[in-house]
Amino acid sequence: MKSGKIIIITAPSGSGKTTLVKRLMATTNNLAFSVSACTRNPRAGEVDGTDYYFFTEDKFKQLIDDDSFIEWEMVYPGKYYGTLKSELDRIWEAGKSPLVDIDVQGALTVMDKYKDISYSIFIEAPSIEILRERLLLRGTETPETLAERIDKAEHELKLATKFNKIIINDNLDLATTDLISTVEQFLS
Ligand code: 5GP
Repeated sequence: MKSGKIIIITAPSGSGKTTLVKRLMATTNNLAFSVSACTRNPRAGEVDGTDYYFFTEDKFKQLIDDDSFIEWEMVYPGKYYGTLKSELDRIWEAGKSPLVDIDVQGALTVMDKYKDISYSIFIEAPSIEILRERLLLRGTETPETLAERIDKAEHELKLATKFNKIIINDNLDLATTDLISTVEQFLS
């Protein structure tokens, strides 16, 4: 099928990416959020089919065998996340550009597969300490998952320069303006 453009946004967990993505989605009409599949449990308030397609591990592995994913990763131990081909097609068929909000490794895979039509943005928290504080404030992590997310963030920061653009999220309003203008310029 005919594909349009694709925006890839990635960041270590706790960089404020979700807030920035929500602000971008609220202002940019021709973008559609690409809903990922995952095997973690829904958090309070999360809706199946809107935030994620929440699948069992068996179902997820079946989809891997069926070659249904553009990319998939075990983002955290035992927890799978992936971008469905059908999701990108659904968005392109609706005449919009998908925004994929995925982990750094997945983002590198999508960039590689869609070199000519993608633009990738890495959102960075000002420091690992600020990132740790934000994750603590969010209150969704156990000490183990917090440590996992910090370890992963330290590794991911080393890969930031591989992306088309880095936005440092030390001021949310400035980062939002930068993100929106960058994306609108690429889509125009
Ligand atoms: P969370 O569990 O906090 O919703 O997401 C954890 C991480 O998984 C985030 O970095 C998020 O961007 C990433 N993620 C979400 N969907 C996908 C996906 O489809 N593929 C990959 N590789 N990572 C994803």
